[in-house]
Amino acid sequence: MTQALTPLSLPPVPREFGFFVDGKVVPAGTRDLSERRSPAHDVPVTRIPKCTTADLDTAVAAARRAFEDRRWSGLGGAARGAVLLRAAALIRARAEEIAYFETLENGKPIAQARGEVMGCADMFDYASGLARSLHGDSFNNLGDGLFGLVTREPVGVVGLITPWNFPFLILCERVPYILASGCTLVVKPSEVTSATTLLLAEILTEAGLPDGCMNVVTGSGSSIGQALIEHMDVDMLSFTGSTAVGRRCVEAAGRSNFKKLGLELGGKNPQIVFADADLDDAADGVAFGIAFNAGQCCVSGSRLIVERSVAEAFAQRVQAKLARLRIGDPLDEATQVGAITTAAQHDIILGYIQSGQEEGARLLCGGEVLDTGEGRFITPAVFTDVTREMAIARDEVFGPVLVILPFDTLDEAIEIANDTVYGLAASVWSKNIDTALTVTRRVRAGRFWVNTTLAGGPELPLGGFRQSGWGREAGVYGVEEYTQIKSVHVEIGKRTHWGE
Ligand code: NDP
Repeated sequence: MTQALTPLSLPPVPREFGFFVDGKVVPAGTRDLSERRSPAHDVPVTRIPKCTTADLDTAVAAARRAFEDRRWSGLGGAARGAVLLRAAALIRARAEEIAYFETLENGKPIAQARGEVMGCADMFDYASGLARSLHGDSFNNLGDGLFGLVTREPVGVVGLITPWNFPFLILCERVPYILASGCTLVVKPSEVTSATTLLLAEILTEAGLPDGCMNVVTGSGSSIGQALIEHMDVDMLSFTGSTAVGRRCVEAAGRSNFKKLGLELGGKNPQIVFADADLDDAADGVAFGIAFNAGQCCVSGSRLIVERSVAEAFAQRVQAKLARLRIGDPLDEATQVGAITTAAQHDIILGYIQSGQEEGARLLCGGEVLDTGEGRFITPAVFTDVTREMAIARDEVFGPVLVILPFDTLDEAIEIANDTVYGLAASVWSKNIDTALTVTRRVRAGRFWVNTTLAGGPELPLGGFRQSGWGREAGVYGVEEYTQIKSVHVEIGKRTHWGE
């Protein structure tokens, strides 16, 4: 369905985008522009307006009007679902363009970006059905005089803040579900990866979404993002990003209007490998789990907790898998691992690679900066002789850095896996069903993979335990998250309130 732009080349001039309010693209005008340089090629690829707080107010007001006059929530699930279905088709039709800008701004391989865009279309397909099936409950057992209903209503205006690691995927794990619920929204994408969010706003309008239901304001997190989390007229905020900014969201909600929060934050996710696993499959999964998206992935399997009897041999297998990865130009169809998205993240990752060695861990392989002339690339690093107190074992590095922690017993494996403030995701590798299920039950994580990793789809919800966040996105739970519950008591026949 999609036509590859062959050969893929850099844009001759950066594409200039406007922001998006009330169904229309708003050109930058006199506003400052933020220029994005491709992290893999260091050339300018997009220019995006830096919105003002007045622009944000205009966007929130548009979303508020669209919510209050019921132009969207009043349509009914079937009509909302039809818009989402058309959006899915349009995403597929424009997949090449979306993937191209995703790769240019983020640095991820084009083949991976295409796969993500197709997965996003699937999110819209699935959520279109949820728009029709969303329902509440009834109580017909309250006695002859009373009937009880529990209804779900859209929360209202949703603020959505998305990060730079999966700009389109994380967006589409939320937007179709938010819209299926009947809410309207204002999105603030990361300033460095805003293009594909703006493309989605255009697509939704073309698909028939009424004006004002999806608005996009662009600019930095510290200015426009902060203003959004503090906004008095936003009913709910969905935030994905660092635990530090997640904490700010909680504080801002308390200071402002107690807006409802959905938070997907960091992770330090265990990959637990037992000696009885298919070790080749497991090594493949562990290598993929740490190198995918250059490790800039909240669900990266960054702690390899491996049975001691096979630990050394297994580390060699993982090393061999990592050595075969094709790292480099993300516009090359064959590339498997692309660039580090931001200069700040590049420094953070190298800082951890250095601190790991200073703290006494042994760097088995990787951790090198690839000299490509321009761009930022780091080869996947594997550390052994790691103790649980080291920063590389405790902190979310958000880069291709794997630490190895051996265990002797099942209880010890579970104890190490749970020795973190996070609880986002985990994988277990074992051919023994008892082992796999015991680990799945006892490790605290919102997403679990058994003999695989990083699998997903629109049906299965996302979200974390503990400091990895609040609430769930995607699946039936994802649409319910954007609703609130109303209890309705219906009197049947005559009633006297004072019992007379
Ligand atoms: P942030 O949490 O700062 O960024 C995530 C999003 O929040 C971006 O849209 C950002 O906008 C926005 N933002 C930043 N500051 C504020 C604020 N004060 N109020 C409202 N919104 C804000 O992550 P970083 O980009 O700084 O990355 C730092 C670390 O965060 C990484 O090393 C990683 O550990 C973690 N992270 C986790 C992610 C996840 O998926 N769980 C995703 C990204 C990062 P802008 O980018 O325009 O500043």
